[in-house]
Amino acid sequence: MLTRILTPDNEAIITAAKLLKAGQIAALPTETVYGLAADAKNEAAVKAIFEAKGRPQDNPLIVHIADISQLYEIAAEIPDKALTLAEKFWPGPLTMIFKKKSVIPDVTSGGLDTVAVRMPSHPIMQEIIRRGNLFIAAPSANISGRPSCTNALDVFEDFNGKIPLIIDGGECNIGLESTVLSLVTDTPTLFRPGFVTVEQLEETVGKIKISEAVTSPIKQGERVQSPGMKYRHYSPNAKVVLVKGEHSKVCQFIKDKEDSGVFALMFEGEKPIDNCLFYGKREDSAEQAKNLFKRLREVDRLGAKTVYVECPSTLGVGLATFNRLIRAAAFEIVNV
Ligand code: AMP
Ligand code: MG
Repeated sequence: MLTRILTPDNEAIITAAKLLKAGQIAALPTETVYGLAADAKNEAAVKAIFEAKGRPQDNPLIVHIADISQLYEIAAEIPDKALTLAEKFWPGPLTMIFKKKSVIPDVTSGGLDTVAVRMPSHPIMQEIIRRGNLFIAAPSANISGRPSCTNALDVFEDFNGKIPLIIDGGECNIGLESTVLSLVTDTPTLFRPGFVTVEQLEETVGKIKISEAVTSPIKQGERVQSPGMKYRHYSPNAKVVLVKGEHSKVCQFIKDKEDSGVFALMFEGEKPIDNCLFYGKREDSAEQAKNLFKRLREVDRLGAKTVYVECPSTLGVGLATFNRLIRAAAFEIVNV
């Protein structure tokens, strides 16, 4: 299959909407990461997403909408807190989980009786939803387990020959997947941290429960409420190790490694070492979030065998970056 990359003009938007309407899949830009899109109501199209990504069938997809009226068509119960959150954070990087209506097929929800919904702020994604009068199911556009893609070339690297179309919307502004919050539980439960922070959510609707899986590995046999949390995730081919401690000690720890193919991801503006890439200033969590996946893909292209990553703060957006990194590192953290 030939994979076309189109710049996002009017014609490309119409092409993408038509193609999705016809049951095909396409990679589209959003403000978080690129999404691999299909018509959420079309079982065969949704199955094609799982196949192209190699995604486990029980890991549900997020359904993207462009207007609040669409929420009422797919969510069976919409608590007041959800509307308050939608008012404040939609369109934007917040996904909310609701009891689902039967128009959303079980393949889309991974067999669950709930549906995850997000209203993206990216104008291209919004326009394609509107033009096609669609509900767009879209997981991150990456081969399952790999770092998510934040630009069209990264998507091309994973899906060349496997999908018909990539719309090139440039670099994603946020660079990490959306915050995922369940509104099905009495106290809203955070399943995945993102750019919308715990602090912001609590300011808006009060107490939030943070699922243990956000910062800890799933124990064997444990029942998970959000299937995505149980899989190895976000990993480059290189082995990732998180290193936590004072900058000079982190540097010394990495310099002492004598293996070849050792790379480091460090904070910008501090004393660098050999084979070191930056992923943002220490105090700038948003910049770290934006650069992380891009850098993890870069170290692979540079032939890294191991990449040591200077551990980010877990405050604010930092919690999201930390959550992705501990999964990429299979929970290997070294304290120096
Ligand atoms: P991705 O599609 O790669 O952005 O991942 C979507 C995340 O949302 C995964 O971790 C899913 O397991 C989670 N998710 C989607 N739908 C639901 C749902 N109905 N209940 C719980 N988690 C969900
Ligand atoms: Mg993903």
